Amino acid sequence: MRRGTPERYAYAADLWPKNQLWKMQGEPARYAPDAVVQPGSEAEVLAICAAAAERSVPVIPYGAGSGVCGGTVPIRGGVIMDVRRLRNIGQVDPLDMTVTVDAGVIGMHLEETLAERGYTLGHFPSSILCSTVGGWVAARSAGQFSSKYGKIEDMVVGVRVALPSGRIVETHESQPDDLTALYVGSEGTLGTIVSATLRVHPAPETQVFRGFRFRTLDDAVRGIRLLMQSGKEPCLVRLYDPVDTVLHRSKDPATVVKDDSESPSFLHGLLDSALGRGAKKAGIALALGNPSLLNRLANTVAAECLLIVGFEGATAVVDRDAPAAWRLLEDAGGVDGGEGPGRQWLEKRYAVSFKQSALYAAGAFVDTLEVGCTWSRLLPVYHAVRNALAPHALIMAHMSHAYREGCSIYFTFAAHRRDPKALERHYDRVIEDALTAVIREGGSIAHHHGIGLAKRDHMAREHGAGLRLLYAAKDAIDPFGLMNPGKVLPDRAVTQ
Ligand SMILES: Cc1cc2nc3c(=O)[nH]c(=O)nc-3n(C[C@H](O)[C@H](O)[C@H](O)COP(=O)(O)OP(=O)(O)OC[C@H]3O[C@@H](n4cnc5c(N)ncnc54)[C@H](O)[C@@H]3O)c2cc1C
Repeated sequence: MRRGTPERYAYAADLWPKNQLWKMQGEPARYAPDAVVQPGSEAEVLAICAAAAERSVPVIPYGAGSGVCGGTVPIRGGVIMDVRRLRNIGQVDPLDMTVTVDAGVIGMHLEETLAERGYTLGHFPSSILCSTVGGWVAARSAGQFSSKYGKIEDMVVGVRVALPSGRIVETHESQPDDLTALYVGSEGTLGTIVSATLRVHPAPETQVFRGFRFRTLDDAVRGIRLLMQSGKEPCLVRLYDPVDTVLHRSKDPATVVKDDSESPSFLHGLLDSALGRGAKKAGIALALGNPSLLNRLANTVAAECLLIVGFEGATAVVDRDAPAAWRLLEDAGGVDGGEGPGRQWLEKRYAVSFKQSALYAAGAFVDTLEVGCTWSRLLPVYHAVRNALAPHALIMAHMSHAYREGCSIYFTFAAHRRDPKALERHYDRVIEDALTAVIREGGSIAHHHGIGLAKRDHMAREHGAGLRLLYAAKDAIDPFGLMNPGKVLPDRAVTQ
């Protein structure tokens, strides 16, 4: 157990932008834990749960702290239970095609180990280098290849969970009243996941990627819907809206998104500057100082949309499905841009978001919001959020995690204020406006980042009376409210 100041600082925050906004106001650890424990076995996890229950001390399960919704922020103090010493990867069961993995295993270690044995889990979140299996399961994570392999909830066959009472519960999908779904997505509020049994697949024999240009977002959305409803199984579907397309345009001349003017490179420079990629403080403040104008400019200049699609798996299947998919997308209005955009994306697939610090250093924020939509709600939600935020923040989006019934929209937005307190107020308003627009238009407030603190006060509007069931489960499993208090579920007073 560690109680020193460095540990308390190190575990005070996850990657929720609010932590950063508090730091900018001189508070590096607004909510610090009282202690940090790093159990090395299931027995130690149970002993910690029992000791905490005896003393009425909150317990916050902690994977790698890569969460972006404040899920591990210890708002009521207590003990951070860092599970990264639980790192056993079992043998693959070749008959069941499953593997049982400890919660503290870092994603990339699991995928590399499986690859050495000829398998893949198929779960590749952008944070794979800095997130754990337990964190994935607890936050209902999605990987970049979710269109083929599903989200983590589609991969979990069962879990072992240490309950706050100090007992173990083990679930398995073969049980008649399987309780796995209760714990998947519980974000540490019902217990500590100590291991998970996951589905695996044979390692892919081949992989192909293709970029397509679409004249309009509507055409491109129609194209990916038809693709996902055609029965083919692309692993990757990433559609950038016109503004995001400018940022992702390929250096390969064959795939440049808009080829006939200087404007895209001008806009590229402006957006680069607004998003802090090597730009100076004054440039960022200037670019983000008038978001309405910047959005208008971006919308005027940006035109086409880039779609990247990938297939992987057995060669015979990929050779059959990929060309048929390319034809389908061309019939839907796509212009084939070759392999370049996909290969380029693949090279940088994990090099995300670490450039944010320049923006924060310049007195701005950047955040993302991933929401779930059925196909019929996708464009209404997209336009509603953009309209709600355009006066207040630079906004762009891509659509990834496409399925037969719908797709997620991943918004990125950034804004600047001179005063850090005003910046936090502005941030709160932007989030509130965006989530209100999502709910009003029939989207879902979260697709794969979880709820944490960031979205918990919108849970009542999303679930209505269903929230009572969640409170009932919480009361039954954690009657003293010690597991990760204050997360996921809004305070009851607010909902009554
Ligand atoms: C740059 C970047 C890129 C990202 N890309 C993706 C992406 O592509 N896809 C995606 O889904 N997410 C992504 N995320 C978000 C984040 O990585 C995921 O939410 C991830 O699942 C969190 O894992 P973690 O181990 O870091 O969990 P933590 O942040 O430590 O915890 C997250 C939540 O899970 C709970 N928890 C953690 N471990 C356990 C456990 N063993 N038992 C019970 N509860 C537990 C915590 O209490 C907390 O509520 C990204 C984040 C960053 C910073």
